[in-house]
Amino acid sequence: MEQTAKRALVTGGSRGIGRAVCLALAEQGLSVAVNYAGSRDAAEQVAEECKRRGAPEAFAVQADIADPQQVRALVDAVSERLGGVDVLVNNAGITRDGLLLRMRESDFDAVLATNLKGAFSCMQAVARPMMKQRWGRIVNLSSVVGLRGNVGQANYAASKAGLIGLTKSAARELAGRGITVNCVAPGFIETDMTAALPESVRADLLGQIPLGRLGAAEEVAAAVAFLASPQAAYITGQVLCVDGGMAM
Ligand code: NAP
Repeated sequence: MEQTAKRALVTGGSRGIGRAVCLALAEQGLSVAVNYAGSRDAAEQVAEECKRRGAPEAFAVQADIADPQQVRALVDAVSERLGGVDVLVNNAGITRDGLLLRMRESDFDAVLATNLKGAFSCMQAVARPMMKQRWGRIVNLSSVVGLRGNVGQANYAASKAGLIGLTKSAARELAGRGITVNCVAPGFIETDMTAALPESVRADLLGQIPLGRLGAAEEVAAAVAFLASPQAAYITGQVLCVDGGMAM
């Protein structure tokens, strides 16, 4: 029978989609390590809620995933406390929007360092133990913007498109060891990230969504939880859009 995951690490689990992913995995009976950058109280509340929803163990753990040293320390600490990591969800992400001609180099670098290199560092840190146990699930949060591009988001789009290449390469490399690697690409989801958008941009985006509404974090989390489940054992290297039809 297909092995079932027991221990998950979710980056950026303190808010938005990451929070919903932590809760969905807890409801499937997994222990959950809730990573955060600065929102300690929020992350601790998510960990408490995970326990209420069925996680045998759940705790908050601080690390800036843009720093590879902190990522190694994060994965070591989580592996020690949970006894290993079966599911890695690379969810942490940031935006630093601006038009190409005006985009600061520091804004380009910051977005790539968190969204793309952060995911790479986390994958590298969990891959060896997952290979040893010959089982693992990695889910990376890309975006429809990585598939279609977006005005004012050259850095973000590059990071999210890069994640798709990273996912497919890792899927090929790790398949022989029972590890699947997939992307979920959300469209326009109601979180702090999109709350910051001006009303005119929101209205324009709504017009591009065939289902005619924003998505909920829980709707993205359901797709992530499915890809982490035994039912998704034969799915790897895929990009699952959860976008109300935006990117079709
Ligand atoms: P959000 O509400 O802004 O939350 C971002 C999360 O990432 C927070 O938990 C934050 O931690 C964490 N984080 C940021 N930088 C970090 C770092 N360097 N190290 C560790 N954690 C860090 O974002 P969201 O809207 O839920 O988005 C989650 C993911 O989905 C992102 O990768 C995003 O690009 C992607 N996505 C979102 C949408 C959307 O419409 N919302 C659409 C497509 C894709 P703190 O709370 O500690 O700051």
